[in-house]
Amino acid sequence: MKFADLHLHTNFSDGTFSPEELAEHGQRLGLAALALTDHDSVEGCARMATACAAAGIVFIPGTELTAEYADTEVHFLGYFIDTGNERLLAEIAKFQVVRQNRIREMVARLNELNMPLEADAVFALANCKSPGRPHVARALVKAKLCGSLDEAFRRFLKKNRPAWVPKAKVSALEAIELIHQAGGLAVMAHPGLNRTDNIIPPLVDAGLDGIECFHTKHSTALAERYLEIADKFNLLVTGGSDCHGFSKGKPLIGTVKLPYEYVERLMSKAESRKSRAGTAMTLALDPRPSTLD
Ligand code: AMP
Ligand code: FE
Ligand code: FE
Ligand code: ZN
Repeated sequence: MKFADLHLHTNFSDGTFSPEELAEHGQRLGLAALALTDHDSVEGCARMATACAAAGIVFIPGTELTAEYADTEVHFLGYFIDTGNERLLAEIAKFQVVRQNRIREMVARLNELNMPLEADAVFALANCKSPGRPHVARALVKAKLCGSLDEAFRRFLKKNRPAWVPKAKVSALEAIELIHQAGGLAVMAHPGLNRTDNIIPPLVDAGLDGIECFHTKHSTALAERYLEIADKFNLLVTGGSDCHGFSKGKPLIGTVKLPYEYVERLMSKAESRKSRAGTAMTLALDPRPSTLD
């Protein structure tokens, strides 16, 4: 049996592995396909593609976008996106600025709570354009202001804790459209985490392509529930570990194993979408009316 892990983060967002380290773990674990889904970034995809090719692993370029629908936060995984797509890159650059400003705001709140942390310490530690709360947590631990990442989240960074700052998010419809116009498939990430079941039907109408049924934080019962929903709405099924590095001493990559048949279904939809876009492009470039042939 061949397996894939389609939800992975590197140090181009809040993961701790480099693309090369991640590909190496994938190879060691015998995974047949990997997708990189850094938050608001596609920057690691080129290096990951090279590393996967060298390791004989199929690579799917991706990203994870944070969006909202009717006040519900929802994360979208964009798979098979063109990582050079200009509009996607322009929007991602905006999301990254939002993230950087949010770090400054969270640090200001921590300072008000007499936690002497500097935003530059967080940026230096993050060393990427897409910093997030895990970097603030790591900086708090590094400065010995918190004993653990868990403590940092629990005391300060979790939703509604004193240094938590809500993130400005794009609408779900915009996120889906952005992924589609970049040639990608839009998949709802970890629906069990965001309790997003009621928004699945309208998002299907908006062009949602799939849902992440298998995820580290989905129980078997939840995975089964989303497999049924996928079946009902004719959605593609994906899965991944959401690896951000080591978890309890072990790399999380590969702990969720997606059977390869699901990857093949994703690939065939991505290909048919791209070939249809290609046909539309050819027709647009060839103004001769076809009826004259
Ligand atoms: P952000 O995108 O800045 O809001 O940060 C969200 C990220 O923080 C998630 O992708 C996780 O990697 C991480 N995260 C969220 N909640 C926790 C938590 N309670 N403990 C540790 N990491 C968390
Ligand atoms: Fe994350
Ligand atoms: Fe997520
Ligand atoms: Zn993720």
